[in-house]
Amino acid sequence: MAKLYFYYSSMNAGKSTTLLQSSFNYQERGMATMLWTAAIDDRYGHGRIASRIGLEQPAHLFDPQSDMFAAIAASHQATPLSCVLVDEAQFLTRTQVWQLAAVCDRLGVPVLCYGLRTDFQGELFDGSAHLLGLADALTEIKTVCDCGRKATMNLRVDGQGRAIRQGAQTEIGGNDRYVALCRRHFVEQMQG
Ligand SMILES: [Zn+2]
Repeated sequence: MAKLYFYYSSMNAGKSTTLLQSSFNYQERGMATMLWTAAIDDRYGHGRIASRIGLEQPAHLFDPQSDMFAAIAASHQATPLSCVLVDEAQFLTRTQVWQLAAVCDRLGVPVLCYGLRTDFQGELFDGSAHLLGLADALTEIKTVCDCGRKATMNLRVDGQGRAIRQGAQTEIGGNDRYVALCRRHFVEQMQG
């Protein structure tokens, strides 16, 4: 049975690197993959998944209106897919998470989703909430805080490195950055 996988983490844990490596493992065996990323994320130019260590691949873009089941089914009919990989999966809608579950259950194609568990205020992203609820397999991609504990939280900081405590869940085109911290140090920064 094809499974829906959710690989979740904090920022800068190497999600995109892991995704591209998984895709490569399929392609190396002559198996076709289909890559997706969020239209919202234009850090590396439209329609690409790029990792911080220099790997990159073209990808299809999803926005909240995309019918991912229809697009994947059409592609699968033209060239049978061995795997679908979705980056920035925190931006999926509830409907799209169900569509990806249908890709597994009705098309028999495994779907690997990679995304952030929570936002800069420690709240679940919508896509991640539904993936945590529906995925067959959950795997945490781990990274560390400066103190050595596991970093599970994402602190948003401004250009001077000061914590940003309020604002929209997703800031587009600002100079804000994110720092992965353990919960204790995240709370200190958010209350400090
Ligand atoms: Zn810490």
